[in-house]
Amino acid sequence: MAELVFFSGTMDCGKSTLALQMDHNHRARGRAGLIFTRLDRAGTAVLSSRLGLATDAVEVDEGLDLWDVVVTALTGGRRVDFVICDEAQFYAPAQIEQLARVVDELDIDVFAFGITADFRTQLFPGSQRLIELADRVQVLQVEALCWCGRRATHNARIVDGAMVVEGEQVVVGDTEGGAPGLVEYEVLCRRHYMRRMNSKAAHAAALSADVLPLELDACALPQL
Ligand SMILES: [Zn+2]
Repeated sequence: MAELVFFSGTMDCGKSTLALQMDHNHRARGRAGLIFTRLDRAGTAVLSSRLGLATDAVEVDEGLDLWDVVVTALTGGRRVDFVICDEAQFYAPAQIEQLARVVDELDIDVFAFGITADFRTQLFPGSQRLIELADRVQVLQVEALCWCGRRATHNARIVDGAMVVEGEQVVVGDTEGGAPGLVEYEVLCRRHYMRRMNSKAAHAAALSADVLPLELDACALPQL
C-alpha cells in the first residue's frame, strides 16, 4: 500500500541530503522516481544538498498540477514507482492534495521533505496540509544545533545581522538585493529563539560580559 510520508525538520538538518539518499536507494533497487522541488538554494529545477550533491528535478511553480505531471509521465510510458518532494513547505495546499491523490489513486509512494514552521514559528501552508493529510509524519533525527549546543528546533531570520520576527513568509536566504538588507537564516533552540539571541547577538553580549550568555538570566526575554 502506497503512503504519503512527511519528513520534517528544521533547516540544516539534512533533509535534502536524505531526499537524495532516498532517491539513490530506490533507484539502486530498480525503482524509478520523479523528483519535485521549489526554490532550491542551487536554483531552478535542481535538488541540491549542502554536502554538494545535486540532481535534476521538476520545479513546482505556483499553479503546477502535480497530479497532471505524474499522470502525463505515466501515459508517456515512463515508470513512476515513487515521488520525492523537496522543499514541500513551499507547495500550495492544493498541490499537497494532488500528492495525496497520487498515493490513493495511482498507488505511488510520495516522500515529502520540508520545514514545518517559518521564522515566525508559524506553519507553512504546505507543511500544515502535509501534517493534516500524511499517513506518517517523521521528524528527522539528524539534529541541527543552536550556537549554545542545544538541539535547534526553530528557524530564525536574520536581516543585516539582527533577528527579525516579522516580514514576508518566504524570502530565500543568502541573497543580496531585493528586500532591504542581507537575509540569512539561523537555527536556534526555543530558548534562544524566544530571546531573539542569534549567534551574533550572543557574541556581542559575550564581549561585554566576558562569557557567552548560556544562562538564560544573561539574556532577557524581549519586552513586547
Ligand atoms: Zn540555544
